[in-house]
Amino acid sequence: MAEFAAHLNQGTSNANPTIFEIVAEESMASVLRPAVSYALKVLASSNPDRWGWIWRFGDECHLCLDYVVQNHYLKNFGGSISEHFYGLKRVDRGDAGKGEAGLSSFQKYLSLIMLVGVPYAKLKLDQLFERLREEYASGYLSSYSSRKRSYFIHLKRTFIYVYPFLHFTWETIFLCYHLLYIFKFSSVHSPLLHAIGVSLERLTRQDIVTHSAQNRLPSILSGMTVAERISAIPSSVTQLITSVLANGLPVVVFFLKFIDWWYSSDNKGALQSAMQLPVPPPPPQPKPAQHGVQLPPHPAQCPLCKKVRTNPAALSSSGYVFCYPCIYKYLNQHGCCPVTHLPSASKQLVRLYVDDEN
Ligand SMILES: [Zn+2]
Repeated sequence: MAEFAAHLNQGTSNANPTIFEIVAEESMASVLRPAVSYALKVLASSNPDRWGWIWRFGDECHLCLDYVVQNHYLKNFGGSISEHFYGLKRVDRGDAGKGEAGLSSFQKYLSLIMLVGVPYAKLKLDQLFERLREEYASGYLSSYSSRKRSYFIHLKRTFIYVYPFLHFTWETIFLCYHLLYIFKFSSVHSPLLHAIGVSLERLTRQDIVTHSAQNRLPSILSGMTVAERISAIPSSVTQLITSVLANGLPVVVFFLKFIDWWYSSDNKGALQSAMQLPVPPPPPQPKPAQHGVQLPPHPAQCPLCKKVRTNPAALSSSGYVFCYPCIYKYLNQHGCCPVTHLPSASKQLVRLYVDDEN
C-alpha cells in the first residue's frame, strides 16, 4: 500500500506531499464516480422495469455512497479515501508540521461538504449546461421565446453564455493553486482546502501504527460467557464492517485503476489484437418492457406519437426508431427508452438521414 511507501519516506523528506502524489490522489478520486455509475447501469439494464429508477437517480445514489465512505475515512483516518490510499491526511493549517495536528469537528464537517457536496453541485451545473446547450442548438429554446415563459428562456440563455466563463475561472483558479504549490509559494494545492484552513501532510509513523490498530479485528470473544458473547455481537459486527471498509475499499480502488488503465489509450495494442477476431452476430432485439410503450402496427410509425415518423432518430441503447422531437422530449423527462425502459440519455440518439422509410 502507498502508506507503507510513505512510511519509508519518513525522516528523509518533509511532511508535505509532492505535486505528483497530489495529482495521483486527485485522479483516483475521479475514477470512483464512473465506476459507481457503470455498476448502476449494469443493474438497471439487467431488469429495467424494476431497477430503471436507480439509473435515473444514479448521481444521488453516488452522493449517498460517497457521503458514507468519505465520512468514515474523515472520522477514522483524517482524510478522504483517495488521500488515505496515498498515505496523506488533512491537518489544520495553523498546526501544520507539528506532527500530531488533527482536524476540528467543524473542519471535518466542512471537508465533507467540499469532498461530497461541491463535486455534486458542479456535476449538476455541468449537466444543466449540456442540456440547455443541446436545447438551444436544436432550436427548442428559440421556438418558445416569443410566447409565455420568455423570462425563463432569457435566464437559460444567459446561463448558456455565462457558464463557460465561470467554468474557465474555476479551473484556472485550481491551476494557479497547483502552480503556486509547485513553486512553494503556497502550502495548499487547492482553493477548497485553503477556504477551510486545511492542508495535506504525509501520514507519520505514529498514524500508521494507530490506523493498523483500528483495523485489526477484535479478539473480544475469547474468555467470555455466552451472554457476554451475544451482547458483544453488535459492536463486533460494526467493527467488522469498519474493518472491511478500511481494508477492502483500497483494493477495489486499485482494481478500478487497473481497469481504467486496461481500457486507456496506452493499452490500445492489446485491444487491437482482440478486435481482429471474426465479426460477432448482431445482438438480439431487446424485449419491450411490460409497461412500456406499445409498438405501432406499421414499422414507419413512431411508437410515441403513432404517426408516420418525421425527422427519424434511432436510440442506440435499444435500436428503436422515433421522431427526433418525440424521443428527445421523452428522454429528458424519463431518462429511458419508452419501449424497453433501458436507461438512456439524449446523447445516445443517432439521427437517420433517409428520404423515405417505406
Ligand atoms: Zn413521433
